[in-house]
Amino acid sequence: MSHASLKAVRSRAPESRFIDLRSQMVEAQLAGHGIADPRVLDAMGRIPREQFVPTEMRDAAYEDGPLPIGFGQTISQPFTVAFMCEALRLNGTEKVLEIGAGSGYSAAVLSLLARSVFTIERVPELAEQARSRLTELGYDNVHVITGDGTLGLSSEAPFDAIVVTAGAETLPDTYVQQLRMGGRIVIPIGEYRYNQEMYRFTRLEGELRVETLGGFAFVPLIGKYGWHVPEEG
Ligand code: SAM
Repeated sequence: MSHASLKAVRSRAPESRFIDLRSQMVEAQLAGHGIADPRVLDAMGRIPREQFVPTEMRDAAYEDGPLPIGFGQTISQPFTVAFMCEALRLNGTEKVLEIGAGSGYSAAVLSLLARSVFTIERVPELAEQARSRLTELGYDNVHVITGDGTLGLSSEAPFDAIVVTAGAETLPDTYVQQLRMGGRIVIPIGEYRYNQEMYRFTRLEGELRVETLGGFAFVPLIGKYGWHVPEEG
């Protein structure tokens, strides 16, 4: 954006400024980089990302990158959120499990793409913040659970789709067990920090189809069937 148009955007009411920035994000960062599913582009164009970042970072909410949300965690880059949502191949009828609620942003995007969303977050403060934010904004088909997402959520299984928004060491078997036949798991797997390959697993009769979708950078998936941190054994 030119300096003049940035100034023009800044001088308007905050809400319309964010609406403009959001549609520019959809065009330049998403459609311009290969995201093609119209439902995903529409959902990304409707969720107010500025409401999911710390107040002092609102001006950076639509930049092309992740942002810190406290507790050493991040809200993922818009492209990454859109890419994972597209990879799940949702049509609006699905029950989705998300691991890593973080700010609640990707759960809000998923809430427009699926029937219901269960999202698990291991950091209690982030879970509480995401829960009250999502309730306040009216995303009432999203349920936030505090706990270790590597265990999945057996009480609500089976799921049509499972998405993991933190980097795993391997695919936890719990996810395969909690996935409906024909269902998809989208999960980054690789090194402890910031160097993973995105995988899509599809549960078919007698086989688990595996596809690799490219390189990404995530904070670690920590838990019983994830990475272990020393203080947690
Ligand atoms: N989806 C989030 C958003 O839209 O803001 C961003 C997720 S952030 C990249 C990854 C999140 O996964 C962090 O909030 C982290 O605390 C969480 N996490 C890591 N291991 C987890 C586990 N075993 N269960 C649940 N959440 C976990």
